[in-house]
Amino acid sequence: MSALVYLDYAATTPVDPRVAEVMARHLTLDGIFANPASRSHMLGWQAEQAVESARRQVADLIGADPREIVWTSGATESDNLALIGFMRANRERGRHLVTSTIEHKAVVDTAKALEAEGFEVTWLTPGRDGRVTPDQLRDAMRDDTALVSLMAVNNELGAIHDLAALAEVAHAGGAVFHVDAAQGVGRIPLDVRALDIDLMSLSGHKAYGPKGVGVLYVKRSPDLRLEALIHGGGHERGMRSGTLPTHQIVGMGEAFALAAAEGEADQAHITRLRDRLLDGLSGLDGIHCNTDPTVSVPNILNLAFEGVDGESLLMALREIALSTGSACNSASVEPSYVLKEIGVPRRLALASLRFSFGRFTTDADIDRALDALHHALPGLRR
Ligand SMILES: *Cc1c(COP(=O)(O)O)cnc(C)c1O
Repeated sequence: MSALVYLDYAATTPVDPRVAEVMARHLTLDGIFANPASRSHMLGWQAEQAVESARRQVADLIGADPREIVWTSGATESDNLALIGFMRANRERGRHLVTSTIEHKAVVDTAKALEAEGFEVTWLTPGRDGRVTPDQLRDAMRDDTALVSLMAVNNELGAIHDLAALAEVAHAGGAVFHVDAAQGVGRIPLDVRALDIDLMSLSGHKAYGPKGVGVLYVKRSPDLRLEALIHGGGHERGMRSGTLPTHQIVGMGEAFALAAAEGEADQAHITRLRDRLLDGLSGLDGIHCNTDPTVSVPNILNLAFEGVDGESLLMALREIALSTGSACNSASVEPSYVLKEIGVPRRLALASLRFSFGRFTTDADIDRALDALHHALPGLRR
């Protein structure tokens, strides 16, 4: 049998070979390796062209103008720039921020840092389905609410927010609407005009692109000002200085072009695999679905296995690469804060695993995971 079965696509995806091929052409002397900011020679212009064409690829996927795309080192930095950069630049507009308790740590910890700086945060607790409702948001809005930050797709549950409805409430209350859409690319439509989104964080490596590159979409509007977090050189219209990593950027561009072309086909393939896993588990007792499949992307399935300890189950499933909750929590034995917040009892939260699939997952991968579960569960429950 081959090595590990990879069912942890929500932690990171492998780079698509077509993306890796484009990246490799932007590294070495015979490729497009020069500094895209070098204006004095042809090689610099070529690199600049490569960056600008990738910028258009990302903009096209989300219905944005290329001038609204700011390159960053990943969605973590994009979230920091959106929250800190916006709140600091708009102190006179208000000191209040609204977000949820099940955001990625890149938003949760950034909002906490803002609290320590004197800003005020309202933390909304989502329902059992992992979603904050527009009514909840409406109740949380204040006269001094400057920013609302809510994620497109939750990374542990797969729950999809109703972004258009939430944007409407945020705007009616006079606030700017930020979305962490790292898990949304290629999974759900992310048209920033149709959804009326002002700021949106994106990551390369959750969508078959490389790690270490991301984007913050910043709507072109006179009242949308951000204070830079990283100074030096004035790249990206002053919002994010630093030499642009051409190979990372063209990789993210190619990955997003593939997501635009193949996202729907990927999701059809993945829905079939998810249903194959659910069918295969239907004979086993005591399995609870933490994910509400009716409001979630098909590529994430969070399941609780009654009567077992998640860590022991992970050990028993050694040949399957999986996660208990989010990767960042794997070092500690605390149950996932996301499961806790949606009301999963501690006992079940500690017995939960996240299965996440992708473009390269096969029927055979699902069958091996099912075999392993059928073998491991009776012994662990005895
Ligand atoms: C992975 C992820 C991030 C962090 O993205 P990086 O590019 O790894 O910094 C932020 N938010 C969500 C929802 C994620 O899934």
